[in-house]
Amino acid sequence: MSVFPQHKYPLRSLNHVHSCPRRCPLVLRVICSATTKPRLNQSQLVVEPRIEMSPDQLVSPASPPLLNDPSLQSTWSHRVWLASGCATVMFSLAKAIVGAASSHVWLEPVLAGYVGYVLADLGSGVYHWGIDNYGDASTPVFGAQIEAFEGHHKWPWTITRRQFANNLHALARAITFSVLPIDLLCNDPIVHGFVALCSGCIMFSQQFHAWAHGTKSKLPPLVVALQDVGVLVSRSQHSAHHRPPYNNNYCIVSGVWNQFLDKHKVFEALEMVLFFRLGVRPRSWSEPSIEWIDDTETASQVAVQ
Ligand SMILES: [Zn+2]
Ligand SMILES: [Zn+2]
Repeated sequence: MSVFPQHKYPLRSLNHVHSCPRRCPLVLRVICSATTKPRLNQSQLVVEPRIEMSPDQLVSPASPPLLNDPSLQSTWSHRVWLASGCATVMFSLAKAIVGAASSHVWLEPVLAGYVGYVLADLGSGVYHWGIDNYGDASTPVFGAQIEAFEGHHKWPWTITRRQFANNLHALARAITFSVLPIDLLCNDPIVHGFVALCSGCIMFSQQFHAWAHGTKSKLPPLVVALQDVGVLVSRSQHSAHHRPPYNNNYCIVSGVWNQFLDKHKVFEALEMVLFFRLGVRPRSWSEPSIEWIDDTETASQVAVQ
């Protein structure tokens, strides 16, 4: 779920400076939630440790990208990875259809495909929650994506300017490596029904995400219709993810899991477990650093250019 976009605009949350406590004197700060942003959703005074940074230690946010910035364009490498991802998904889908046709059993592969579509949404939410809340740019494997997600929260609108293959190539590469072995080793149409729909939805989740940031009048009517009936994540549901308290609506395929996960505070429970087991605080517990505030003013300035 790249929001793999803003690699060029590295951003770091102030949370990331926990590794330098001796250089960054710890002070106590009293926050009255009635007069500050409702990040913590609390009505009482909160005493919270805060890291005081000297000016030279602050990481200044990068400038917003230009509309024609090369980092938003697709490269041939992006297109090749997207093609390979599509090929592996289509091969799995073909195996599901051929297997169902030859065995005259259609119900199970179709049901498996539906389960794959539903679980892809859940998977997108779990992954997005993890990337949004834990690790930093130096985290192995996921560092670039964590950094990119932070960039997306700073300038959400850039995802709508990103070219198709640029937006999807990272997921397409992961899908290629994970689905290709299944394509080669498995002939079960039920398995392929599940794999094809699940991996396809995950690979295109970044496009669904981009459409969720789109303006209704500029989106294809079919996309708007699919968003309105809940087949694709809706614009209103995802916009809530980019508003305080920044800890809900993580799912970006259909969004069908969002209400259940948020109503039952599933991610908040997981955050508590991780905190008490490992002592790791999720970013959503902290007041938004400047990197996490939607720079809508800047966005609107650029949008009219
Ligand atoms: Zn997010
Ligand atoms: Zn978004």
